Amino acid sequence: MHKIDIDLIEMTMDVMKYVIDRLSSTKNKIGKPKKEEELKALVGETITKKGIGGEQAFKLWKKYLTKSNVPIDHPRHLAFVPASPTRAAVMFDLVTSASSIHGAYWMEGAGGIFCENEAMRWIVSLTGMPEGAFGVFTSGGTAANLSAIVTAREYWRSLKEQNKEEKGLIITSIGAHSSIKAMAKVADIDVLLVDTEDRLEADALRITINNLTPHQKQRLFAIVATGGTTNAGIVDDLEGIASICEKENLWFHIDAAYGGGALVADSVRHLFKGIEKADSITIDPHKWMFSPYDCGAVIYKKPELAKQAHSQEGSYLDIFKDEGAHGFNPSDYQIQLTRRVRGLPLWFSLATHGTNRYKQAVERGIALAQIAGKIISDMPHVELVREPSLSCVLYRRIGWLPDDYKHWTYENHEKGFALVTPTKWKIGDTFETVSRFCFINPDTTEKDIKMILNSMV
Ligand SMILES: *Cc1c(COP(=O)(O)O)cnc(C)c1O
Repeated sequence: MHKIDIDLIEMTMDVMKYVIDRLSSTKNKIGKPKKEEELKALVGETITKKGIGGEQAFKLWKKYLTKSNVPIDHPRHLAFVPASPTRAAVMFDLVTSASSIHGAYWMEGAGGIFCENEAMRWIVSLTGMPEGAFGVFTSGGTAANLSAIVTAREYWRSLKEQNKEEKGLIITSIGAHSSIKAMAKVADIDVLLVDTEDRLEADALRITINNLTPHQKQRLFAIVATGGTTNAGIVDDLEGIASICEKENLWFHIDAAYGGGALVADSVRHLFKGIEKADSITIDPHKWMFSPYDCGAVIYKKPELAKQAHSQEGSYLDIFKDEGAHGFNPSDYQIQLTRRVRGLPLWFSLATHGTNRYKQAVERGIALAQIAGKIISDMPHVELVREPSLSCVLYRRIGWLPDDYKHWTYENHEKGFALVTPTKWKIGDTFETVSRFCFINPDTTEKDIKMILNSMV
């Protein structure tokens, strides 16, 4: 055996050992952030003409670099929207990489795309969208939102010659995720915000539409509702908004990047009534469907409209569209050409565990939010800002100013104890700084919650 082969085998064993340790460990620390200069001083030059060798690079990774990351699945990581990929999904992420699959076209990636589509069929079934609705996996919610908005805009432009000259306009609320505004910028679309961070109600939307100038009205082509706001877990009035979209002939996009996972949970499914009427939906399996990063999804009621907007033309691409290569080409339905079959780890995990386990795990996140709400109500030094919604809890430490929240966050992070970050909540015309939990990891315990709250005394 050549030396290189022995090295490769050793490296493989090392990597597998690391992966197994990481997956079976229940006591990971929350990593501590370090400045770039500090990291550089610890690891020195790693990119050199001759290479420092895999063994050395891996050693540096284990000894210094990995400790500067926050494991997103830590049970006391309750900031932003955490994640908690299943072990099965993580293991199959390795298989996905090792299999070197080009996930753009069926011709090359049939086996992988078949699996993605099986997982996608389950996700679509959760939405209750009509026969023919289907979707593709994307790099995340941002890419899914962009793909959907561009599809909607191109469809609108195809309806009337006059629309081709116009800059499109969409309406959403201030509870919408920042990526909606960011992606509207990318697509050169104007955004009008209904001034509420609470549930976007049909009435408020109707008033906003009625107040548009005739020209704005002509440019308006889509409404974006949120199925679980990132900040507070609020689901907009999807049913009411759907009726308005139908009446006004507007595209109805629902951004359920975070909340979409809750469609599987019987206890909250009723909140999403009306989601089946959407023209497009964003759901992030890397948030509440326990997939490793990165994995988003966009679903269309009429996928052929997405194809009209996104299918790329090029002489070297023609072969993929031939009869001989016939099959589902994920690249036709979103912004990316070459793509990882990023739905593959989700497929393996779903196949391994069954969908009931997903239901249980999501219900646990919702239950944890309720449990936290109860504990907060019982403690004298903290109080709820609003009732928990989905798996989000907004609460205040009575008497604290914004800087107190900030220092508390940094201190807990520095100790490797927890990552819980402040947010702002709009009350009347003012934004109050408050604390926020978002539960995803079903292994978070009541004790974790109490420990965190006690550290605020
Ligand atoms: C997280 C989130 C996004 C952005 O998704 P990425 O996967 O981070 O690109 C969009 N919308 C909502 C509601 C989100 O919670």
